[in-house]
Amino acid sequence: MVDIAVTKVKTPGTLPDPDKLGFGHYFTDHMFVMDYETGKGWHSPRIVPYEQFELYPSAMVLHYGQAIFEGMKAFRTDAGEIVVFRTLEYLNRFNRSAEILCIPKTDVAVVHEGLKKLLETDKRWVPAKHGTSLYIRPFIVATDPYVGVKSSDKYTLFIILSPSGAYYAAGFNPVGIRVEDKYVRAVPGGIGEAKTPGNYAASLRAQVEAKKEGYAQVLWLDGIERKYVEEVGTMNIFFKIKGEVVTPALNGSILGGITRKTVLELCQDWGVKATERQISIDEVFAAHEKGELEEVFGSGTAAVISPVGELSWKGRKLVIGDGKTGPFSQKLFDYVAGLQYGKVADKHGWVEKVAKV
Ligand SMILES: *Cc1c(COP(=O)(O)O)cnc(C)c1O
Repeated sequence: MVDIAVTKVKTPGTLPDPDKLGFGHYFTDHMFVMDYETGKGWHSPRIVPYEQFELYPSAMVLHYGQAIFEGMKAFRTDAGEIVVFRTLEYLNRFNRSAEILCIPKTDVAVVHEGLKKLLETDKRWVPAKHGTSLYIRPFIVATDPYVGVKSSDKYTLFIILSPSGAYYAAGFNPVGIRVEDKYVRAVPGGIGEAKTPGNYAASLRAQVEAKKEGYAQVLWLDGIERKYVEEVGTMNIFFKIKGEVVTPALNGSILGGITRKTVLELCQDWGVKATERQISIDEVFAAHEKGELEEVFGSGTAAVISPVGELSWKGRKLVIGDGKTGPFSQKLFDYVAGLQYGKVADKHGWVEKVAKV
């Protein structure tokens, strides 16, 4: 067992209105913190009140972006249990991102223990309404006060928690996506497969331009030929063509989503043929022309499954399934959400109980 000191807030905060949570606006009473120093390693894991922290203006993360993060969720089941979903997968990916950004790896067991203790401490903040959840954001930043370019000698790891509203408060509605043909998100040999702020900074310009045209999201193509489909930027992408589920193979510039992995494993369970391979945007449009493109959906922790009703590429518009949610997208969503809220039996061992309220 790891020794994790707990310092509690003097005055616990007021819970936000469960009907007005939105995403990422509210934070719980406490956070988990741990420090790293070269020669000392990761040390002093602790739970402290959620509050502002001090950083030198020269702190390396502010200048060169040496940072990584994760995003997962805790749920409150009907039985009043607080559960998390595939947590070790996320914490292992956290270490994979650390490797790519030259950040010292963490001991997954310590971070896991810290997360569980934090959730136990702040369990009253996990909203109860179906569809709501407690978003979990672990992250590491480089804190060395030095403005030269190098890998930092000091880091701080945080885990903060944010009660969040139902992603589909207004129903499970398909989104319109703009296929980006000018900008690229990541290139082979780059940092595309890491969950790191730089990839998001690189995506903002395309996102702003897509919004102006009325599209919710951007579908990225490969960074060299702008021909092969990569991902949506906060989601991985799936196409159902003539009964077969196809998703771009992980190639180093695509983020390997845990939800993507879950979808692929469920396809296998259900006897649905699923293939990870290169798929060009031409092929997607051609399949649609032949009437073979049955469904398109994104996968990610925030939305679980996000049906895509329209794709726009170089002025060509493609409406999928009359712009309505397809049955396979719906089935996936219902199954995964069912697992998370304790309505579907967990035969995969994906759900972990961490507290009881
Ligand atoms: C987090 C993320 C995803 C989705 O991954 P999940 O593990 O399913 O949440 C997809 N693309 C990018 C760039 C991401 O950062």
